[in-house]
Amino acid sequence: MYTIRCRSCRQTVTDETFRTSCPSCGGGLEFAYPDAAWKPEANSRTMWRYKDLLPVRPHELLVTLSEGGTPLDRPVLYPDIDLYIKDETRNPTGSHKDRAMSIAVTKAVTFGRDTVMLESDGSTALASAAYAARAGLRSIVVVGRGVPDYRLLPLVVYGSHILEYQGTPAQALDWVHEVCRKLDIYETSTFRLANPYTMEGPKTIGYEIYEQLGRAPDWIVVPVGGGATLEGIGRAFADLHAWGKVGRRPRMAGVLTRGYDMLNEALQRGIASDDELRAMAPDPGPETIQVKIAMTYAPDGLEAMAAVRDSAGCFVSVSDPEALAAQQVLGKLGIYAEPSSAVALAGVEKLRSMKHIREGESVVAVVTGSGFRETGTLAGRVQCQRTPVDAACGVAVIDNLLGR
Ligand SMILES: [Zn+2]
Repeated sequence: MYTIRCRSCRQTVTDETFRTSCPSCGGGLEFAYPDAAWKPEANSRTMWRYKDLLPVRPHELLVTLSEGGTPLDRPVLYPDIDLYIKDETRNPTGSHKDRAMSIAVTKAVTFGRDTVMLESDGSTALASAAYAARAGLRSIVVVGRGVPDYRLLPLVVYGSHILEYQGTPAQALDWVHEVCRKLDIYETSTFRLANPYTMEGPKTIGYEIYEQLGRAPDWIVVPVGGGATLEGIGRAFADLHAWGKVGRRPRMAGVLTRGYDMLNEALQRGIASDDELRAMAPDPGPETIQVKIAMTYAPDGLEAMAAVRDSAGCFVSVSDPEALAAQQVLGKLGIYAEPSSAVALAGVEKLRSMKHIREGESVVAVVTGSGFRETGTLAGRVQCQRTPVDAACGVAVIDNLLGR
């Protein structure tokens, strides 16, 4: 079994109704699994292989699209480091968010809810829409102004209602949170104070890395938007360390978008409160193609900072040209990552050239989302050269292409 407790006052909270925060002090909620042991389910290849370590009972109600169980590739890219790619593009809606949403929507069903809602125009929106569809729940997705149609059309296919909020993304996020509370609608945003259950998804990435590698790597490099993914993967290795499975924890490196480096600055300055973090938000942030991670305010930023600090890790920031270059490198390995996820590899490159990652060290880059959902961002940025051919000249063109 598991228990739920407040991270601030340590009060235990029951799991009979959906709560987003501590009823006494408003603090964030976390889960504990006092009797759980490391015993992955041998006949499951999805993330539910770790079901005893996830806050869902009974297991008969699972809402699953076979998320998790993604490959850990070992490409030969650098002669001096031992690099692995955790390929999260292989999830049902093309991103790691499916892990969080399988848990969140399962809980919605357990609590007898009929509607889910969130603010997102990215991976979380797709995942929420898909899992709601699978569970037969109504889905409302609130997006910002001017989001391109190509990013929203899959939501239509999944049967979601799309609302376009007339304000900034930060205002939309607050509005959705308030409306969900007021109207008693189940919120599927993936940060702790919106839906604590979603926080348990990313840790399964960490458990899988451990099983696939058979040990802890020296580094794990993760794109950071809201902060929950890095925090969860770090927590998985804290669990494994506590169970005596690994001798030490990996150093966690968070990759930020250039111009959205608030967490790095906050870490240097020793910022310890959410209000201070909010005050650092650029308004508006610079234009970028790293749309999935360029957040002006990171709701779980303090937790991500703690995971980085406690593991002797660091943050690095990546520009759009560096993200596009990394996308091309991954493409040559047969992995089509969106720019916001290719930054994991750009981050490795940067840490390696800065000598943070040293010769012989093992590094896992977590490539969080598929490029197939973001091909629209490449228009005008990547040359799409077409060579005209016909029956008369085609063979000569191919000969020329092959250097014959
Ligand atoms: Zn409390």
